[in-house]
Amino acid sequence: MIKRILTGDRPTGPLHLGHYVGSLANRVRLQNDYDTFVLIADIQALTDNFERPEMLEANVLEVATDYLAVGLDPAKVKIVVQSMVPELTELTIYFMNLVTTATLERNPTLKEEIKQKNFTKGLPVGFYTYPISQAADITIFKADLVPVGEDQLPMIEQTREIVRRFNRLYKKILVEPRAMVGQVARLPGTDGGAKMSKSLGNCIYLGDSSEQVRKRVMSMYTDPTRIHATDPGHVEGNPVFTYHEIFNPNKAEVDDLKNRYLKGTVGDVEVKEKLYLALDSFLEPIRARRAEHAAKPDRVKEILVEGTRKGRAVARDTMEEVRAAMKIAYKF
Ligand code: ATP
Ligand code: MG
Repeated sequence: MIKRILTGDRPTGPLHLGHYVGSLANRVRLQNDYDTFVLIADIQALTDNFERPEMLEANVLEVATDYLAVGLDPAKVKIVVQSMVPELTELTIYFMNLVTTATLERNPTLKEEIKQKNFTKGLPVGFYTYPISQAADITIFKADLVPVGEDQLPMIEQTREIVRRFNRLYKKILVEPRAMVGQVARLPGTDGGAKMSKSLGNCIYLGDSSEQVRKRVMSMYTDPTRIHATDPGHVEGNPVFTYHEIFNPNKAEVDDLKNRYLKGTVGDVEVKEKLYLALDSFLEPIRARRAEHAAKPDRVKEILVEGTRKGRAVARDTMEEVRAAMKIAYKF
């Protein structure tokens, strides 16, 4: 049996370089070998955006356009809109019985995000329980493999726990998924923060124009201890060099810049200028494909409808098995 992939993104904005190296590159690489479902997680996006739901619709299209731009092939990959598969909500409710509040409290990513989001009116239960809904997303498709960034590893672990519990309690029908982290587990932000993240505004987006890329690179955080171009600088923990290492294919140039930076014989401007050129040529083909797809939003919508239809069929089958396993598939 051909193995399945399930992964996804929150439609809280267009996708960025972190998504590419963390997860998208793996999805593109594996789309021929796995039956792939990619979920646009709008219900999950609502958990911290429920006061501005109107932002979701446009972002669902943005994310879908990004998928096509990086080379996900809609003939192979099913792009599924989460809210259009109500079976996911049902499975989430059943899974809630299998998770304790203590387990959620220990989830390091959840803890970090709660701190970051600073919910002033109290912590919404929907946000607090999103790892459970994510477990439903993965298991309803019986995914074997989940390509994700490092921040999502605790979610996959939570999913595995739920699956084991379900299979033991009811019947062995669910699949324990495995995470696959990308070439870069966690791309730092342009602000030097630990993670490039849509909600933090420290991103270089896949669809950014050449001019936007230049602006974002030129205002990047570098080495705060370095005041003059003649001061010896730090390369480690300096996101400009982290990006050079990942996106600049000219290794000799990167080594030369690093050596001169350490010695204090190159200024930030030159290092950033070269990074801009490297990123711009990396993004150029993606940008061009993105523009083609963005010009045909009706076609993108058709792809979403078709992918969701196929995804929902799988979800329905799994839910029939789930209800039978739980002995709630009543005959009346
Ligand atoms: P938000 O701020 O709304 O949470 P996000 O930028 O964190 O947005 P998500 O949609 O939450 O993006 O994440 C989608 C996928 O991309 C996840 O698998 C996540 O691990 C991965 N990802 C996101 N940002 C990065 C990053 N900076 N480095 C590596 N992987 C990332
Ligand atoms: Mg996120």
